[in-house]
Amino acid sequence: TVITRFAPSPTGYLHIGGARTALFNWLYSRHHKGKVLLRIEDTDRQRSTEAAISAIIDGLNWLGLDFDAAPVFQFARAPRHAEVARSLLEKGRAYYCYCTPAELQAMRDQAKAEGKPMRYNGYWRDRDPREAPPGVAPVIRLKAPQSGETVVMDQVQGEVRVGNEQLDDMVLLRGDGTPTYMLSVVVDDHDMAITHVIRGDDHLTNTFRQVQLYQALDWHIPTFAHIPLIHGPDGAKLSKRHGALGVDAYRDMGYLPEALRNYLLRLGWAHGDDEIISTEQAIEWFDLPAVGRSPSRFDFAKLDNLNGHYLRLADNARLADLTLPRIEKRLGGPADAQGKQRLLAGMNGLKERAKTLEQLADSALFYFKSRPLAFEPKAQALLTPGARTALAALMNRFEGLPEWSAATLEAATRTYAQEAGIKLGDVAQPLRAALTGQTTSPPIFEVAALFGRSETLARIKDIAA
Ligand code: GLU
Repeated sequence: TVITRFAPSPTGYLHIGGARTALFNWLYSRHHKGKVLLRIEDTDRQRSTEAAISAIIDGLNWLGLDFDAAPVFQFARAPRHAEVARSLLEKGRAYYCYCTPAELQAMRDQAKAEGKPMRYNGYWRDRDPREAPPGVAPVIRLKAPQSGETVVMDQVQGEVRVGNEQLDDMVLLRGDGTPTYMLSVVVDDHDMAITHVIRGDDHLTNTFRQVQLYQALDWHIPTFAHIPLIHGPDGAKLSKRHGALGVDAYRDMGYLPEALRNYLLRLGWAHGDDEIISTEQAIEWFDLPAVGRSPSRFDFAKLDNLNGHYLRLADNARLADLTLPRIEKRLGGPADAQGKQRLLAGMNGLKERAKTLEQLADSALFYFKSRPLAFEPKAQALLTPGARTALAALMNRFEGLPEWSAATLEAATRTYAQEAGIKLGDVAQPLRAALTGQTTSPPIFEVAALFGRSETLARIKDIAA
């Protein structure tokens, strides 16, 4: 069975690229009816705070990505990693290296002078540890193959290979007994029985060393799939200057999790020309060969459009729940029951126009304002003496309506405009200003129907000449 994993290092938030990696791992395992595991790579003790770890887990939960076991914490497994390094010593596949910092620095300087990357020269590879200088805490290095090639059949990148003479004997265990990242990753992936390692292609070069380590341990090598990183709209690697990097920021900006999920799915993976893809379809269709090899560019307009689509599909009560806290923030306090009821009743009209929950909150705010209304300057400008006279006349007609609905209100307004010889907009726009204090809103007759007879008439009366 397929077992994938997502292995974030806590940084304070769930990176949008990490979220996509998590999604791909999740989809791949769901597609193959396997498992997906979460491993928190918390070996950087400064950054791995409780809050930084929760931020990742919250982001994953919000996106609806669930895991099939409790998270594995990498730092806690350090003793196991050290034990594996020592087992390699016993097998003769690793050795103690007693090089001093000065000796290593000399190798670094020499490499720099030759314009080459630093390579450990293998000094202690075949030397007797009894020659060790006193007072040096040795590191454990892998006895890596010195000739031949290391080949990776990557599910996305294809076959990639490196000459073994390019790679030096990497450190597995530091002088202080702590494992290196390379060692921890391989031991954890093995112990978690990971079959498929799907991760960003910034890890591709690490893979060669990891494969050498698997081979030294005689462990089964998982299948690798290195997915291209996400770039900004300008083609440069995604960074802060392109906008938000954390999934939580997208939640705050008012994107729905299903929209972000759909967006991230399409970022680097395609199923024909399909743009809107439900999670069920994604599980059915997702596979690695359809992951592109070139980096995908983040397109905010596309995300907005997808989000607008999912807002229109979303359940009104859920949207009202999600919008309310944003409205209360704008109001600076709790919303009243009447406003809440209007928000829910008016949701169809509101969600039609919004691309984000933030826009939804902005556009719904007028439902929470009570008389006397504060008018936006542009709305105020519409309420000319002529418009006020027209609204007074319209009010008389509204008062006489036997039935109060969007349809009857619209019909009465049309008749009035026709008889007065003015365009519908010449009275409907001032009506919108009078009822909402704004120049844009959902269809104004729906708004008036929702406000009800007495509130609508009172609002018109407030401004009518
Ligand atoms: N912890 C690594 C990262 O956040 C991922 C390691 C891996 O997937 O192998 O980049």
